[in-house]
Amino acid sequence: MIATPAQFLDQLRHAGRIVLSGHEHPDGDCLGSQLGLFHLIRSWGGEVRILNPDPPARHLAFLADWGPIEAYDSTSLGDGRSLGDLLVLMDCSQLRRLGDLGSAIRGKVGSIAVVDHHVDADRGDGDTSFVDVSAAATGELVLRLYDVAGVQPGFEAAHGLFVSLVADTGWFRYSNTTAEVFARATQLVRSGVDPSQLYDAMHRRNEAGSVAFLGESIGASEFRLDGQLGMLCLDAAAIARGGRAGVDLDVVMEPLRSVAGVEVVAMLKESAPGRIKVSLRSQGDLDVQRLALELGGGGHQKAAGATVDGGIRGVAARVESLVAGALTRLRAGGDG
Ligand code: AMP
Ligand code: MN
Ligand code: MN
Repeated sequence: MIATPAQFLDQLRHAGRIVLSGHEHPDGDCLGSQLGLFHLIRSWGGEVRILNPDPPARHLAFLADWGPIEAYDSTSLGDGRSLGDLLVLMDCSQLRRLGDLGSAIRGKVGSIAVVDHHVDADRGDGDTSFVDVSAAATGELVLRLYDVAGVQPGFEAAHGLFVSLVADTGWFRYSNTTAEVFARATQLVRSGVDPSQLYDAMHRRNEAGSVAFLGESIGASEFRLDGQLGMLCLDAAAIARGGRAGVDLDVVMEPLRSVAGVEVVAMLKESAPGRIKVSLRSQGDLDVQRLALELGGGGHQKAAGATVDGGIRGVAARVESLVAGALTRLRAGGDG
């Protein structure tokens, strides 16, 4: 069932024990929107916990100051008993995006709900889905639930929701930055958020090693397809160095995005041996969500991703040929 905000809120109010979860390696939108919804449910005394497939990355670890964020390990699901009455998937719509937690949690929750803004989220695993692909961030959807509840986000929820907005709009630079986003940001600043303090917490607490890591990664970037594809491959050792240094790996794509003529940026990360996490960003009309779909992933027109089995060089070649095909179709007047 596709729910209106009012229907969705009603379901949450009557749900019993609620578990909020989200995709593997949760980003700022995933974690921030969870904090927002956590505090809304608590506002009426509801029973709720946040349980994610992975802990927050180092640059998002401060979010734990604003609410209890648990990460799955084999003990978090307890002894065979039910985990909750309602599982809410946030910033994703399929259990398979939760990795091992997705398979472990199946059958341990009563029903599944989805709050998401990705293409096709209304066709995910939710028995009930509250979805709007035009929302810049999942946090924007949570704020609509606050509206219908007649509640203002408190100090803690506002911090989470502000991080949600800035994570998915790249601090208000991407094309999903609408008047609605600025209105919501204003609302959250009025609730006590200090944007510069949050920027510092996310991006200005790196280790000294981050500078060398950024230099190396940017230096290893390549341009392919006559400069239309910017590509960056990070092997497992590089990812570990970047993680330890506290760097938000999204920022490594920015220099590639700054070059005129680049249509698509691809970042390939060896997340485990033989497993490559692909991040795609479109600078123009090319629809990277459709490319990600061909790789078994998904996302949005201008930002999409997939996790692919294979070696990093082989996956890079596959991405290059997909982008080449899409560019040819785009130039021929197709829809990319
Ligand atoms: P990322 O490159 O990980 O920042 O992801 C860009 C966008 O694509 C985000 O909105 C992700 O939620 C989405 N995305 C990433 N990986 C996948 C996947 N395997 N399946 C579906 N959507 C994905
Ligand atoms: Mn996300
Ligand atoms: Mn999102």
